[in-house]
Amino acid sequence: MDWKRLGQSGNVEDRRGIPGGGLAIGGGAGLIILIVSLLFGGNPGQILNQLNGNSQQTAQPKNDEIFQFTKAVLGSTDEYWGAVFQKSGRTYREPTLALFTAGTQTACGNATSATGPFYCPNDQKIYVDPSFFDTLASRFDAKGDFAAAYVIAHEVGHHVQNELNILDQVQASGDRQGANSAAVRLELQADCFAGVWANSLANTSNPIVTAQDINEGRVAAQSVGDDALQERSRGYSDPETFTHGTSAQRDQWFSTGVRTGDPNKCNTFR
Ligand SMILES: [Zn+2]
Repeated sequence: MDWKRLGQSGNVEDRRGIPGGGLAIGGGAGLIILIVSLLFGGNPGQILNQLNGNSQQTAQPKNDEIFQFTKAVLGSTDEYWGAVFQKSGRTYREPTLALFTAGTQTACGNATSATGPFYCPNDQKIYVDPSFFDTLASRFDAKGDFAAAYVIAHEVGHHVQNELNILDQVQASGDRQGANSAAVRLELQADCFAGVWANSLANTSNPIVTAQDINEGRVAAQSVGDDALQERSRGYSDPETFTHGTSAQRDQWFSTGVRTGDPNKCNTFR
């Protein structure tokens, strides 16, 4: 992925190295709302974890490659979704992305790295501990810069859903788990939205996203399927507890987005 050619978003907050990331002691109580993460359903128990101390977090935030990369990917999604919204007479409110280490405070409660990347609709922010990208490469075998870009684009997909009031509807439905649940459909749509954004960078005369990048995205989407995650963690999978869709479904919907480049083809609720 030739991301250095992309313009950079000014909406990336660098909270890395801040002890606790501004975490309020004993904060987050009572904030139980839908949180849309890459891996897990909106389980407040996972989100509102206690931190196990922050003593190892002493590095100062710096303008390093991961910061530049994140700004480039977010900037590109801003440009893409801004244009899509404009075409239908809407205005796209750009999200903020906060990079953090260990834990941080959000309008959806206190987050830790264990949660994985997620989007909080209350503050319209995407939260990412970049160590997740290392986990993706080492533990999930999803390597490459585009695997990381897919993660960010998926979370941006949730912001798009928030802008379109789709998040609200799914939350109101209360249909939060199971293979055919609204929650799974919501996640698959976010994968499809990541795919249509990827298409916009691949289908040009001088592509920023190559066929190899798309493949990295597909591998990443497969690696975070409910069946794969559940089999990895406990040896079997239970469709009644699915929140994000199977590896095959996640790949299929990401690929649908890539192939069509059309957000209207991302109706996973039909
Ligand atoms: Zn998600």
